[in-house]
Amino acid sequence: MSASEELFARAKERIPGGVNSPVRAFGSVGLTPPFIARGSGSRLWDEDGREYIDFVGSWGPMILGHAHPAVEEAVAQAVRDGLSFGAATRREVEMAEMMCAVVPGLEMVRMVNSGTEAVMSALRLARGFTGRDKIIKFAGCYHGHSDAMLVKAGSGVLTQGLPGSAGVPAGCTKDTLTAIYNDLDSVEQLLLADPEGVAAVIVEPVGANMGVVPPAEGFLAGLRRLCDHYGALLIFDEVITGFRLALGGAQQYFNVRADLVTFGKIIGGGMPVGAYGGRKEIMSMVAPLGSVYQAGTLSGNPVAMAAGLAQLRLLKETLGFYEALNRKADSFFSALEEILQASGRAFCLNRVGSLGCVFFTEKPVWNYEDAQTSDTAAFTEYFRRMLQRGVYLASSQFEAMFLSSAHSPEDLRRTLDAAREALK
Ligand SMILES: *Cc1c(COP(=O)(O)O)cnc(C)c1O
Repeated sequence: MSASEELFARAKERIPGGVNSPVRAFGSVGLTPPFIARGSGSRLWDEDGREYIDFVGSWGPMILGHAHPAVEEAVAQAVRDGLSFGAATRREVEMAEMMCAVVPGLEMVRMVNSGTEAVMSALRLARGFTGRDKIIKFAGCYHGHSDAMLVKAGSGVLTQGLPGSAGVPAGCTKDTLTAIYNDLDSVEQLLLADPEGVAAVIVEPVGANMGVVPPAEGFLAGLRRLCDHYGALLIFDEVITGFRLALGGAQQYFNVRADLVTFGKIIGGGMPVGAYGGRKEIMSMVAPLGSVYQAGTLSGNPVAMAAGLAQLRLLKETLGFYEALNRKADSFFSALEEILQASGRAFCLNRVGSLGCVFFTEKPVWNYEDAQTSDTAAFTEYFRRMLQRGVYLASSQFEAMFLSSAHSPEDLRRTLDAAREALK
């Protein structure tokens, strides 16, 4: 029995499914997940000493690779000064100033501890600000596991939200309406049905939790227009795209402004951090300034802020960081596309900046329903063969591949070689 198998067996006795977040269980690929012992740069090592080139990057945060020395040093310094005070600290101010300096339209932010919390709070704020209850989301977009966002899509699209999880009362999702990604008509239909009832439209500006689905030309601008027309707020859930596509996130990359933006993942540099923010006019409704309550014992935690700030500073101060990362991703995904073509497989490769995804389908993937046409058995076989060759991909067809600045030309060449063999 390998060390990972032994740990997984023990884990399953004491942790539901052996994991603290479902996708880690490798359920959809039917393998024992490697237990990760450490990481450095683009590499991971598991408890059995096997080495992998990592394309998960903790699902996005590790845009500089693992154990970046500047981030580690900032954390070490913060740790020496005490772990938590539940009081105001300097780094929170620096973090808020940094974010407002680089994110378009951001005038005030509130730090929280996860992307889930950021979205949950932003929705409450949008409802408080507009005095309306309904929220429009898109099938296939993930916004964390708060009750109102756990809505079953599929055939229920465009109807009143049904809970997508046991334990969520129907009352919690009845005001969550589901539209179709890249389909402005589906959004307008919902708005027309209740022109003064919708508080907000929330969207992943690049769908990155149904595989990767780029916004079609004009989709995000169209949402902006519809929201303005119907008096709803536009919320960009930038938990993945924030500080990923560009320093200013998707708003900068696509040149469309949202009213509220949520962050997570990269903003914590690997620590549990989330944030939401927007114009002063809206953010002034948050307690203690306003009547929308939201709080957190560990929010703005000094160690977490140190990690996040160190990472954001590097991203800001490294000249041409995003140009270089996006260019590298572009040539990598182009080469991967050629290999897929040569293999004769049916595939659709979607990519935006340093995010990419290979769908095993012949259909262009523009929404959740398209993504569902993928041959998941073909994905599983590809995933297993890549893992055997030391390439650690997300263990589901419906997740993104994340490139980091730590991926070297040699890493990418080896990955392409592995793909060529795996697709034979
Ligand atoms: C990961 C994710 C979340 C949830 O963030 P957690 O930190 O896992 O709670 C929310 N929205 C999007 C777009 C995400 O990718």
